[in-house]
Amino acid sequence: MNVLAPEWAAALYLVAASCFILALRGLSSPKSARRGNLIGATGAVIAVITVFLSMKIDNLPWILGTIAVGSLIAAPVSRKVKMTQMPQLVALFNGVGGGAAALVALLEVPHNTTVWSGIATAFTILVGSVSFSGSCITFAKLQELIPTRPLTFRGQPVVMALVLAGALASAVVVVMSGSLLAVLALLGLGLAAGVLLVLPVGGADVPIVISLLNAFTGLTVAASGVVLGNVLLLVAGTLVGASGTILTRAMASAMGRSVAGIIFGAFKGGSTAGSATVSDRPVRSSSAEDVAILLGYAQKVIVVPGYGLAVAQAQHVMAELAQALKDRDIEVVYGIHSVAGRMPGHMNVLMAEANVPYEDLLEMDEVNPQFKTADVALVVGANDVVNPAAKTSVGSPIYGMPILDAAAARQVVFLKRSMRPGFAGIENELLFEPQTTVLFGDAKESLSKVLSSVRAL
Ligand code: NDP
Repeated sequence: MNVLAPEWAAALYLVAASCFILALRGLSSPKSARRGNLIGATGAVIAVITVFLSMKIDNLPWILGTIAVGSLIAAPVSRKVKMTQMPQLVALFNGVGGGAAALVALLEVPHNTTVWSGIATAFTILVGSVSFSGSCITFAKLQELIPTRPLTFRGQPVVMALVLAGALASAVVVVMSGSLLAVLALLGLGLAAGVLLVLPVGGADVPIVISLLNAFTGLTVAASGVVLGNVLLLVAGTLVGASGTILTRAMASAMGRSVAGIIFGAFKGGSTAGSATVSDRPVRSSSAEDVAILLGYAQKVIVVPGYGLAVAQAQHVMAELAQALKDRDIEVVYGIHSVAGRMPGHMNVLMAEANVPYEDLLEMDEVNPQFKTADVALVVGANDVVNPAAKTSVGSPIYGMPILDAAAARQVVFLKRSMRPGFAGIENELLFEPQTTVLFGDAKESLSKVLSSVRAL
């Protein structure tokens, strides 16, 4: 529309970029995450409006129509999606971001005038298409539309090497000549590379790959900022790229893996497969009343929440039970494992929803030394994050992952529905230890029964 002078547009871009930085700062703590999210969204709205007001835009009805269709799909989907399906949603959003950047770069090929803009365009097409197809495969794995185990075939590394070499050659031709054929080859090979990159990754590692692809999308967006000469895209893309890289490294180290090991390990057959066997060995099981007595006469209880607590939506009744125990002068804290649940920070979000005080949520390093002084470790819908196999069983899919030391508590109570294993698909020896007892049932129902029994003590 061109109604905004360039200096005003630059000032508004600066405001939007500041919003993105403040958003990241807010998102670094559960207390301020909601505010951070809002600030980020405000920055995005300012950025979009500035583009419309400061540039001459062709095909305006088409653009507005596309925004309307996208919003009509995204808003209800985001509202309906369950918390446990968040990684799938992030994968999809991330994929369309990378795909959109690749498409924009595709249209810019005929306008490239320098080698640098050619390189930025080729980079955006390649990495954007890798991010798009890779994210689609991660979505399909997490949604269990295709098997979550590593999918490999003979000669996969060779095929991958050939695809990458072909993509590189096409990129050189795109930079030198802008040939349409080379552009299409680059796009196709990028899509193939994304599929080949993610297929061999095993279930438990898929979220790390989502985060990695998120970093790729950030880089793509930054490169498209160079292609379009838009500083804000460059800033926003760099922020996404940097934060995605930091998150990828943090998740990988919380799972005791290296990023290279996750991506290349599967090619060698070393990724997390998970056998998903159900044990028929006997375990000690208890009634809700027995568990209430154990808890009600303890001095210190450490709660270990996990994926099952999120599935059962048992966070509120868990918080009520903790309060009932505190009312009996029992010390209650929560041991939070950074990969408990199905997304980073999952347990912090859940417990915050139930208004559990932040100071009760202890990270692994802080809580682990405390287990040996705890009378009861109450493991609610968690499994892999307390599985001693991570320390003792070389070759186990979770070997090397730091775990919560629930086994050191005097008594361990598991709340779960069956003897099925957790995400990694492996048996948990802690279930069979003499100090362990299992209360079978849905976490929310079990906790409600335990709560009534504690109140009746
Ligand atoms: P797990 O997946 O290891 O175990 C979940 C447990 O919850 C199972 O034992 C299951 O047993 C039980 N459960 C499921 N539904 C219910 C229910 N309604 N009521 C009671 N129990 C229930 O979860 P953890 O949180 O311990 O570990 C997370 C795993 O997910 C790790 O392997 C981690 O690597 C992986 N991961 C983490 C991500 C993250 O970013 N946080 C991302 C992706 C994977 P049963 O079926 O018998 O009830």
